[in-house]
Amino acid sequence: MRPTTLVSAALVSLILPAAAGAQDTTHFTHADTLRGDINAPGRAWWDAEFYDLHVAVNPADSSVSGWNAITYRVVSAPREMQLDLREPIAIDSVVQDGRHVAARRDSNAFFVRLPDAGRVGGRGTVTVYFHGRPRVAHHAPWDGGVVWTRDSLGNTYVASAVEGFGASGWWPLKDTEADEPDSQRVAITIPDPIIDVSNGRLRSVTHHPDHTTTWEWFVTNPINSYDVALNAGSYTHFGWIYEGENGPLTMDFWPLAYHRQAAEQQFKQANAMMSCFEHWFGPYPWYRDGYKLVETPHLGMEHQSAVAYGNRYQNGYLGTDLSGTGLGLLWDFIIVHESAHEWWGNSLTSKDHADMWIHESFANYAEAIYTECRFGKEAGAKYQIGSRKRVRNDKPIVGHFGVNDEGSGDMYYKGGNMLHTIRQLVNDDEKWRGILRGLQSTFRHQTVTGKQVEDYISQQAGMDLSPVFAEYLTTTMIPSLEYRVENGTLAYRWTDVVPNFAMPVRVTLGGSTLTRGGSTVVEGGDSVVLHPTAQWQTMPTTIRDASQLHVDENYYVTARPVSSVPQP
Ligand SMILES: [Zn+2]
Repeated sequence: MRPTTLVSAALVSLILPAAAGAQDTTHFTHADTLRGDINAPGRAWWDAEFYDLHVAVNPADSSVSGWNAITYRVVSAPREMQLDLREPIAIDSVVQDGRHVAARRDSNAFFVRLPDAGRVGGRGTVTVYFHGRPRVAHHAPWDGGVVWTRDSLGNTYVASAVEGFGASGWWPLKDTEADEPDSQRVAITIPDPIIDVSNGRLRSVTHHPDHTTTWEWFVTNPINSYDVALNAGSYTHFGWIYEGENGPLTMDFWPLAYHRQAAEQQFKQANAMMSCFEHWFGPYPWYRDGYKLVETPHLGMEHQSAVAYGNRYQNGYLGTDLSGTGLGLLWDFIIVHESAHEWWGNSLTSKDHADMWIHESFANYAEAIYTECRFGKEAGAKYQIGSRKRVRNDKPIVGHFGVNDEGSGDMYYKGGNMLHTIRQLVNDDEKWRGILRGLQSTFRHQTVTGKQVEDYISQQAGMDLSPVFAEYLTTTMIPSLEYRVENGTLAYRWTDVVPNFAMPVRVTLGGSTLTRGGSTVVEGGDSVVLHPTAQWQTMPTTIRDASQLHVDENYYVTARPVSSVPQP
């Protein structure tokens, strides 16, 4: 999703409010609990099956109006139903089987007691009519809401970007990542001649006498709610067929009409992206809905089968390299990062926002994988390692559960480097690729917990990685290897680690260091895998002093020689 990074003075001010670790994140409101409790009683008894969403968009006064017919399966004894819709959007009416149902509003949620909710195992449909002016996103995609603007020719240009903030910022639904509908219609009505491009495939275009047009899009797969997108602009369209692992895949592109030439050039990169990610992660998850890039007035977002693109047809991240290695300037960050989310975030979605690392750590790691596909394994590693300087260790990556809280922005760079480190532990690239593809096939089109992902990797790797995940995801520490060389003995241990942390680490003993391509490399020497724990261990060594020990920089750890080791 949001590529949260400080890249320029202009962006710093936009990002800091959301990223600042100084905020009190231990206090949560009643509204946070309503939004974030994935097992709330008003949510648990029913399972969203289909959202039939119809929204009329009125750029003249920045308002929306419409209805969502929610079809649900009853999974346990019905009680009051909780739905979510952010203030100040008003609920006009709630209707079931032609009868109006009273709604009780509680901040950004509302509750209805359905006269005929249905029996366990059965289905029901409830329709919510609404209207209002959704929060304006001034700093999308970082703040969340709807962007109302004009393109450089003065044409209407509107887009939604609501990750974290929530889809309930512009339409009513059960707004939790834990429950995705099996399919969804997104029918957007907008004044002519503006075109709306939403998720999935275009089913119909209906012109109305009042000079508006309804663009009916349909997603045939489960979709997480923040991915449901409104993109309205003066678009043109081109596309092609990509022969992928699961057969022909439509790739469609919707740039603003006056950017067509630039788009035709830049979007060729989508082929290399698709080829690389299908190899490493498995088939693109949405062959039936197709792949799309849609130009937006904001930087980008992983909107499922309609990835938002606002990187101005240049390589890098708005023309800069997040890794500081130069490698990030060789490809378009938004095409690569946001498309990676089709696998990590969209097909495989975290149930609770606190586990958002499942989306961002893997998407960050995918940037390095893409670099590896294009420029070789060493380049991929260099990109990943280069991104470490962006780690802040301000707070844990995993946020608070049940309150729609996201953890530290370290979920990008620290999380990606954690995965790169685990690859070293697996020490078998084909096995590692099998684990990534296995995660995708095992949890395809599902919502998952972080623990499910961690346990799967541990099982497939054949090692208990839970202390490794705990260290990188739940603390602000980086493992530090302490060591000392004296009289032919090497002593070593981990510090700054969680209990039972015993991660192996590769070091080179001896050899000589030299600078090559701007980085320090070790030549010669003995490559040895140490198995440190929090207790001191020793081994005989031929190196004379601590300067002759070099930790393999592919492991995201620090190392420090110490002057004395306590005697046992
Ligand atoms: Zn992302």
